[in-house]
Amino acid sequence: MAFESGSEPCEFEILDARFDDCIRKSARLERLASGCRWTEGPVYVPAQRRLLWSDIPNERMLSWCEVSGHVAEFRRPSSYTNGHTLDRQGRLISCEQGGRRVVRTEHDGSLTVLASHFGGQRLNSPNDVVVKSDGTVWFTDPPYGICDDYEGVRAPQEQAGCWVYRLDPVSGELRVMADNLVHPNGLAFSPDERCLYVADTGVERGTMHRFAVDADGSLSGGEVFIQCDTGFYDGFRCDTEGRIWTSAGRAIHCHAPDGALIGRIPVPERVSNVSFGGPKRNRLFICATSSVYSVLLAVNGVKPC
Ligand code: MG
Repeated sequence: MAFESGSEPCEFEILDARFDDCIRKSARLERLASGCRWTEGPVYVPAQRRLLWSDIPNERMLSWCEVSGHVAEFRRPSSYTNGHTLDRQGRLISCEQGGRRVVRTEHDGSLTVLASHFGGQRLNSPNDVVVKSDGTVWFTDPPYGICDDYEGVRAPQEQAGCWVYRLDPVSGELRVMADNLVHPNGLAFSPDERCLYVADTGVERGTMHRFAVDADGSLSGGEVFIQCDTGFYDGFRCDTEGRIWTSAGRAIHCHAPDGALIGRIPVPERVSNVSFGGPKRNRLFICATSSVYSVLLAVNGVKPC
């Protein structure tokens, strides 16, 4: 949906004057790739100038080269990977819904399993992951990879619930950090890491919750921060000013740090996840159903992606 702003057609819906500072009205949504079944987990790899993402039902990962525009398969089979991020050493961290584990791709290409069990039971199906500046790996564990064979492998749930976990990759300690959500999904820290935002897709209307990260590293709070009026929040990321850029049905929603919805970017397909990338981190990559899109913004994403 395009509409007029002055004499120039604009693809952005400005709901609050604060959104003016976030966009270039001449920028356009670009479709970079298509032909997938359900895309998720975009992650930009600066050293390669490539975007990686998951095509979950086809059990593969793909890549798009920023220099050539070439799209290729990156990993197949992928154990139904969903969300990805980079750690502080630039290594790929991936949630495998089929493998029911979180893995790290080493610089030599080998895989290291970071987490597969908690309390002696298999994880449900890790969905999305972020790495904190102290190197700890935080991920969510809803059941979407075990409820049928479409996005994983049908299997009984072994955990008593769906939690938010923190993994210390040095000691191997895996700890439940939040147990009050139905199906925790996307997650991201605020730029100062004093807040952790987590989406819940197990409720009737999608919610995003805000936890305070206390000085000892534990979480408190967890109240509903925002609620989606067009379906669910799945994945999202913050920019350096603390705004939240989130999937919301067939659109990207931008929320100010106070929670106000300040702008929308309509997308032709239902959006799953977003991630900032490009050499200046001012390009928002968008996984939406069968395709991957991008749009250049006037903001910069926080590291890591
Ligand atoms: Mg997700």
